Amino acid sequence: MNAPVLRFAPSPNGRLHLGHAYSALLNARIAGILGGRLLLRIEDIDPVRSRPEFIAGIVEDLAWLGLHFPEPVRRQSEHIAEYRASLMNLGERGLVYPCFCSRGAVAARVAALAAEEIDRATDPDGTPHYPGTCRHLPAGEAAARRAAGEPHTWRLDMERARAEAPGLQTWTDFDPDGGERRVASDPTRWGDALVGRRDVPTSYHLSVVLDDAAQGITHVVRGQDLEAATDLHVLLQRLLGLPSPAYHHHALIVDEAGGKLAKSRGSASLADLRGRGDGPESVRAGLGFAPEA
Ligand code: GLU
Repeated sequence: MNAPVLRFAPSPNGRLHLGHAYSALLNARIAGILGGRLLLRIEDIDPVRSRPEFIAGIVEDLAWLGLHFPEPVRRQSEHIAEYRASLMNLGERGLVYPCFCSRGAVAARVAALAAEEIDRATDPDGTPHYPGTCRHLPAGEAAARRAAGEPHTWRLDMERARAEAPGLQTWTDFDPDGGERRVASDPTRWGDALVGRRDVPTSYHLSVVLDDAAQGITHVVRGQDLEAATDLHVLLQRLLGLPSPAYHHHALIVDEAGGKLAKSRGSASLADLRGRGDGPESVRAGLGFAPEA
């Protein structure tokens, strides 16, 4: 078996908070248990929200916590051409299609269907499934609109994707203390998921599966909030002929009100804690990573 490789993959949209620290420290602990390596990956496909100062801040905060990573650190923004090539491959196989609907147009269509009392599914994030407006546009029309430069996203044709990767798909959930189990997946709950954004020819879902394969990731350790996305990830892996890592989704660190930590909710960043005089040992200990006595 290949030596275990794990990754911590933050998006540089802000400073790291305690939730990130917990995930990074848990990745390091599990890499230690498995005798594997832990890589850092910067998930900076968002050209607006990703900022260089946040990347520098991530590296600084992780070093402050005592976490150091092998160089070079993979940055997704340097691999857009590879993501585009995979997206086009899926397009040539009729598994993704360009979607010219604006967000407002999708919302209006969903509202119209609701008014007609047509019950529609929502995805695990609570977003109504895409109503399919652009799914069967004549190929010539879609090509002409793209050639004319009309903005568009790319959506997975879930029905075709499932037909191309038939049968029950499962993924491996591993317990860091030993043991694993197979989990049945149901990617259809995502509907025609968005796999290529309007501004960059990729998405979180597409980049993450391509990068996990490119970096030889064997074990993914990430928050429970991403567990449902694993169903979509294993489908994309099947369609693209990529290996599937084993997954462990950890509980999220929550604030006093039980909410997910986020900059938008005013959660303290590691930089804030440092500024307040907290040391890395107390932060680690507070998260359950006290040094062995
Ligand atoms: N970049 C994602 C985040 O910061 C994590 C991706 C993953 O671990 O799959 O939430």
